[in-house]
Order: sequence, then structure tokens, then C-alpha cells
Amino acid sequence: TTPSAPTITLNGTSLPALGMGTWRMGDNPAHRADEIRSLQMGLEAGLNIIDTAEMYGQGRAEAVIGEAINGRRDKAFLISKVLPSHASYKGTQEACERSLRHLNTDYLDLYLLHWPSAIPFEETHRAFETLKKRGLIGGWGVSNFDTEDMKPLLAHKFRPAVNQILYSLDYRGTEYDLLPHNETAHIVSMAYSPIGQGGALLKHPLLHEIAQRHETTHGPATPAQIALAWVLRRQNMIAIPKAGTPHHQALNLAAQEIILTHADLQALDAAFPPPHRKIPLAVI
Ligand code: NDP
Repeated sequence: TTPSAPTITLNGTSLPALGMGTWRMGDNPAHRADEIRSLQMGLEAGLNIIDTAEMYGQGRAEAVIGEAINGRRDKAFLISKVLPSHASYKGTQEACERSLRHLNTDYLDLYLLHWPSAIPFEETHRAFETLKKRGLIGGWGVSNFDTEDMKPLLAHKFRPAVNQILYSLDYRGTEYDLLPHNETAHIVSMAYSPIGQGGALLKHPLLHEIAQRHETTHGPATPAQIALAWVLRRQNMIAIPKAGTPHHQALNLAAQEIILTHADLQALDAAFPPPHRKIPLAVI
């Protein structure tokens, strides 16, 4: 593990704030061996958090993880998500049991509701509590919940362990209210698509310019590492980039070493301005 790596406390356990995403893993059989090696490299290097969902390839991403964690279950902090359409009392439990079969394990560390459901949250919450009592999940959380979506939960004193949301340099809207709201309510924020899905964000000239000013033990910094270091700079924040290859995983691991300077952060604020008013939560 990297000495300067940011950490986070989740369900009483201290973990690296850098985790691993898995959306689209298992979609292409030609990539499977690389995906498994990438996840195993992360686990061996001390990353614990692996994020997945029953939705991803209808269980195919979970099956890739199942293979990757074989004999290493104790190293992983596994998170999966139930689809809102399955979020009834019975449906949630059945979905969880299916996910466990795909993952080839007997418990999840955290189980999230993938986005707000038409099914009243009290019912899903009851299912989460039953799953906890049955020893199938260690805790529960939500995803894609905006500040308003969170109110009814908190009114019932239901406190999710995490709220997994879109957060990256090009999606900073949550800085206005949702991120501070999560922190005050002791809910860990979890950034999905932190490197802009590997798309246009990584072509931004400023990211290239800042990358040139940083070096890691893995070599000169890259724009993706700068984007990731920027997300990881925040307290109360987990980032779950998806690395489909050991090469990308090694780069993401090395990004934990990067500490952006005040000048870097100011330049990034000018190019990707923070919000000055409420912006509804963006989703992918
Ligand atoms: P990311 O921002 O993590 O980007 C992933 C893309 O970036 C892939 O194409 C990957 O390529 C590439 N990449 C990874 N590392 C590097 C690197 N160091 N340098 C250059 N390119 C890199 O997008 P995701 O949408 O995958 O988000 C991350 C995770 O968040 C998902 O996998 C999923 O687990 C979760 N998520 C949750 C959502 C929700 O609704 N709760 C919605 C969306 C995502 P390659 O595959 O070749 O490595």
C-alpha cells in the first residue's frame, strides 16, 4: 500500500478510499482474463472495495468478480446493488441471493439500492434489515439519491452507510449541497465514473498540463491520474474507477500518491467551476 493513500472508515473498517468499479466487465469474453487480473492486482496492492450491481451484464460482472476473489474473499469489501424494480421485501432478498450466487460468496459487505424506487423505501429497508439478520449483508446504502431523495430516509432515522453518485471534474454539482449534506449526516459519498468514463475529460489540455508537473513511482503522471487524485483529495469520499486492464489498475494505484498543489486546484476550479447554486443530481 502507498503510505500517502487516502483512507475512509466504512462500517467501522478503515479502507483505502480508492476502490474498483466493474461496470461492463464480463461483457466481452476476450477481455475477461485481463479484468480478473486487474481486480486481483488491486486486491494484492491493498485495495478492498469492489463495486458491482445485479444490473451489470445481468450478473456477468458479478461472475467476473466471483472468479477474481476466489481464495481471496477476505481481502475484498464487496458492494452490489439491487435494481429499483426488485426492491420489494421479497424481491430484494431474492436479488441479493442471486448476486451472492453470481459472486460465488455467502455475504456482501454492503448492499445498495441502485436508484430511488417507486416501492416505498421502508419496505426496502425492512428487506435490508432482514438480510443483515440473516448474515447475508454487512450493511446497506443507496445510490443516485439527491438531497431531496434522502429526506424521507433521514426522517425515519434510516441512515445509509454510503450514497454512490456521479462525481468528477466535469460533474461537480453535488458540491453545492449533497456532498456537505452526506457528510453532516455521516453518510460516505462514493464517486462513480470518477475519470469521466475514460472519455473527453481525459483530453482536456489542463489535465495534460498538470500531469506534466507530477511524477509517481509508476512514472510520469497521466491526465486520468490527475482526474482521480482530484476526486480522492476530498474527505468523506470513495472513488471507484473501473480498470479493465492491469496497466490501468497500476496507473490508478499510483494515482494515490499524487497530491495536487494549491495552484493545480485553483487552475482546475477555473476550468471546471464549482457550483454556485443547487444543480439537480446528474446520473449516468
Ligand atoms: P470510469 O470513470 O471509472 O472510467 C472507466 C473507463 O476509463 C474505462 O473505459 C477504462 O478503460 C478507462 N480507464 C480506467 N483507468 C484508466 C487510466 N488509468 N487511464 C486511462 N483510462 C482509464 O467510469 P465508470 O462508468 O466505469 O465508473 C466507475 C464505476 O462506477 C463503474 O464501473 C461502476 O462500478 C460504478 N458506476 C455506478 C453507477 C451507479 O448508477 N451507481 C453508474 C456508473 C458507474 P479500461 O476498461 O480499458 O481499463
